Amino acid sequence: FKKVEKVDVEVASAMKKELQRQQNNIELIASENFVSEAVMEAMGSPLTNKYAEGYPKKRYYGGCQYVDIVEDLARERVKKLFGAEHANVQPHSGAQANTAVYFAMLKPGDTVLGMNLSHGGHLTHGSSVNLSGTYFNFISYGVNKETERIDYDTLEKIALENKPKMIVAGASAYSRVIDFETIGQIAKKVNAYFMVDMAHIAGLVAVGLHPSPIPYADFVTSTTHKTLRGPRGGIILCKQEYAKAIDKAIFPGTQGGPLMHIIAAKAVCFKEALDPAFKEYQKQVVANAKTLAQALEQNGFRLVSGGTDNHLILVDLRGKGITGKEAEKRLDEVNVTVNKNTIPFETEKPFITSGIRIGTPAVTSRGMKEEDMRKIAKVIDLVLTKGESAYDEARDMVEQLCKKYPLY
Ligand code: PLP
Repeated sequence: FKKVEKVDVEVASAMKKELQRQQNNIELIASENFVSEAVMEAMGSPLTNKYAEGYPKKRYYGGCQYVDIVEDLARERVKKLFGAEHANVQPHSGAQANTAVYFAMLKPGDTVLGMNLSHGGHLTHGSSVNLSGTYFNFISYGVNKETERIDYDTLEKIALENKPKMIVAGASAYSRVIDFETIGQIAKKVNAYFMVDMAHIAGLVAVGLHPSPIPYADFVTSTTHKTLRGPRGGIILCKQEYAKAIDKAIFPGTQGGPLMHIIAAKAVCFKEALDPAFKEYQKQVVANAKTLAQALEQNGFRLVSGGTDNHLILVDLRGKGITGKEAEKRLDEVNVTVNKNTIPFETEKPFITSGIRIGTPAVTSRGMKEEDMRKIAKVIDLVLTKGESAYDEARDMVEQLCKKYPLY
């Protein structure tokens, strides 16, 4: 960061340390990834200087002819990637994308059905501390206590009883396939809009490793920085009939000028995702998650729902006698990064939790494969089962893995 260093040594120093942290840690946060250097270059480009309120060819500023090319490329590529009729690539984040859909289609006080946060849903799906749960009457559905998978029968019952204006599907901590077709049928039955937030699984959906919500949902939102491996940001995909309402809800509804450097990076990300190599990457993400899940189970860890179909694993630590908070802290000490996470029917506070969430997108981007997952499972077991006496051994294993798969 030579140019930053010249101007601001304090920020440059923290940036350097963060890069080293990423290089020397095993990154298992399920919502994180490592972007390509092409995506990174687009993010750090002079496009950040351009104001472009509006949409291609309908801007409120002059000089938009080149950023128009970029935004058109991003829109066309993401439509092709997911088979969508309309795309808005301007949301600054996943939360902004969700808020814009609500703003476009709902009135304050409307009833909406979303997945319970502690069963895997997201804050923007109706949590009382989020705008969604404050402005709208969110009611929640969740997983079955036995199977720990979404209980579609109960979901239907709740929908029939409450007649929501919208049903929201999608999750942040759910390791199983979501049956968008069934939820879409329930939405039709009760005459509700159907919105899918595919933020976590977008990369899998793009290559057909998770059923696509596009045929069933009126609106599909996503982040671009998780399995999709793009810049931090959001997108909204929708049927043509809602295109105008959605575009209006982003600008001028909930945002000002678009981040054109980020939209350029999204365009690059979508091009990468359309390449056959992206499918191979996603297959490895899933294979790695399955291997890691099996290896953890063999070491006596209980996995919520008994395993995974996607890129993430939710571990129930109650049998090991430690909390999610303690596990996160211990793993940090040996340079393994995970996040504490509530598990379904959680009894601990959200800052303590009984679980950890583990994901494979980032380590897979570094090139790690099944044999490396077995080593990571061993590191986790050493640290969480044996404790401090095993930290040195665990640190050595982490160091070797990081050296074997250099980052940037
Ligand atoms: N939706 C889901 C399902 C998520 O998991 C997340 C982020 O974790 C978001 C939305 C929010 O995305 P952002 O952090 O970009 O606002």
